[in-house]
Amino acid sequence: MYDKNNIFAKILREEIPCDKVYEDEFSLFFYDISPQAKVHVLGIPKFPCRSFSEFINITNNENISSFFKSVQLVINKLNIEEDGYRLITNSGINGGQEVPHFHVHILAGEKIGGLR
Ligand code: AMP
Repeated sequence: MYDKNNIFAKILREEIPCDKVYEDEFSLFFYDISPQAKVHVLGIPKFPCRSFSEFINITNNENISSFFKSVQLVINKLNIEEDGYRLITNSGINGGQEVPHFHVHILAGEKIGGLR
């Protein structure tokens, strides 16, 4: 069950602040509080869902399309397409997810290490 008190739900309700990059009807993008790269932005849908799979399975196509179009809009806004970036979404225990509201990490600004 979705935890309405997770930190991103609180950000969406404006109970705690965030450093906003972009917002529209369906989604919110903000800087990660503990950046793992020179550019580290998180993107979340405004719809309550725990993971990528839940987002795809529960949300309608309009929201899904809008969210991923917004990811690209933020990539344009951050001007990171040419040099490159990494998109990550962690899901569940094995995925190492800490905050149980679906989110994508946009990492850029330098060569991102780790995964091959
Ligand atoms: P994940 O491990 O994929 O669930 O990632 C959760 C991310 O949320 C981590 O990179 C945290 O640094 C980030 N985070 C946690 N709290 C906040 C917050 N209040 N504002 C911005 N980012 C946050």
